Amino acid sequence: MEVPAALLDRAQTVFIAGRWVDAGESAAIEVIDPSTGKAFAAFRPASVAQVDAAAAAATQAFNSWRRTSGKERATYLRAIAEGLRTRKADLVALQMLNSGKPRFEAEIDVDDAVATFDYYGDLAEGLDSQQGQSVELPMDGLEGATYFEPLGPVALIVPWNFPMVTTAWKLAPALAAGCTAVLKPSEFTTLTELVYGDIAIEAGLPAGVLNILPGAGAIGSALCADRRFRKISFTGSNATGSRVMAAAAQRVVPVSLELGGKSPIVILEDADIAQAVEIAAAGIFFNCGQMCSATSRLLVSEKIAARFTEALVEKAAGLKVGGHETPDAEMGPLTTFPQYAKVRDTLEAARASGLECLAGGRVVEGRDGFFVEPTIYRDVPSDHPVWRDEIFGPVLALRSFASVDEAIAIANDTEFGLAATVVGTDPEAANAVASRLDAGHVWVNSAQIIFPNTAWGGFKASGIGRELGPWGLSSYRAVKHVTRAS
Ligand code: NAD
Repeated sequence: MEVPAALLDRAQTVFIAGRWVDAGESAAIEVIDPSTGKAFAAFRPASVAQVDAAAAAATQAFNSWRRTSGKERATYLRAIAEGLRTRKADLVALQMLNSGKPRFEAEIDVDDAVATFDYYGDLAEGLDSQQGQSVELPMDGLEGATYFEPLGPVALIVPWNFPMVTTAWKLAPALAAGCTAVLKPSEFTTLTELVYGDIAIEAGLPAGVLNILPGAGAIGSALCADRRFRKISFTGSNATGSRVMAAAAQRVVPVSLELGGKSPIVILEDADIAQAVEIAAAGIFFNCGQMCSATSRLLVSEKIAARFTEALVEKAAGLKVGGHETPDAEMGPLTTFPQYAKVRDTLEAARASGLECLAGGRVVEGRDGFFVEPTIYRDVPSDHPVWRDEIFGPVLALRSFASVDEAIAIANDTEFGLAATVVGTDPEAANAVASRLDAGHVWVNSAQIIFPNTAWGGFKASGIGRELGPWGLSSYRAVKHVTRAS
């Protein structure tokens, strides 16, 4: 697994107006390999003063970018997709090193980002024919028409768990719509995101259409406060999302918020046990559980609870946990030390509170890195933090239910509403449950696959707005109606 030196040792890490420029004077941020816990690179973050330069570049570029045709923008989006495709091997290696993702997961992320830019390339191409569609008016001598305009320069703030993907889900529709952007990657996974700057140069993207400011929360909050951004799209924790929304409220600009989750998975009594085990395990152990959509609350029919639980515990105990030195690892380490410390503390608190632990329950002892055992707790009370709070780790809380009504009531009893899964062989019964779950995205008898043309976003405290699909594009456009004398 070789990562080219050019991706690791960057003399310049701030991308403004189409050029790499010197960063601020702040201390360098170390880039950690979670498989060892050791730094393998460092980068200099942008200064808060550079938010001004990036906003100015995005504002100036917007004047001409907004006038390009959708067809023209489609060529840039496809060029970015191509840039990602040709760098796939490097990006997979870098994600394995910096995020701790097993190879197959790192590959899925790059493929997803490529597919998202290709998809929005297609949507951009279709935009020109949507302009000026007539609206019939109930008055003689007048005619109406609808146009769509890009909102303006936008700020895109992303987390560390799926760096390539969360950025693609924002950047591709923003550029397709005709917005210019300033991207703030997570301080934990910055190197992966800087590659978007290299690709922008190679794709010939006009200067200032994409700007990248690496750094921590101070850069994010300065972006939120800058009057030139006409929208803020944020993915991350609920605590930070609230702050972003409060800052946006001061200026009355729209936000898209993709926040946390505590998603349910409901295993019905007629479920195929082997299939249910695979889906349940993927829903909590993929990306070491660091998924906003992790189905971390499992509800299984009491009729099959014993058989299902035994098979799931066997699956969890048999999962191969390892870092990038383990080619066939099925689950990697947690990505950051703070996340590792949080999950470790949660496991200790669960032990102290006497929860029944069926698998795992501890960090992996005797090795460096941020490794945690795949963990399952049974009969977790509904007021226990392990049942209520997002843990963002490979920790599953399991309970059984006597009736479908009870399962649905428990599943919906949460402040979140991002995703849900239902498993059962009778499609009518499974679909009926899916229709009663409060969640923005539901999988029925399917693992968590998300396609670019499907809606992504949450009910309740899981967020505001939808990404992906035509909804993601609309969130970067304003509707303009014109009434004119005919
Ligand atoms: P986080 O909120 O700590 O950070 C997210 C981003 O916000 C980072 O880039 C960070 O530097 C920046 N930031 C920090 N303080 C800020 C401030 N005051 N103003 C503006 N920006 C600021 O979240 P995280 O730990 O990086 O990510 C994990 C969280 O993200 C989890 O809660 C997870 O559920 C959520 N998430 C949601 C989705 C979704 O689609 N709903 C997807 C992925 C992750």
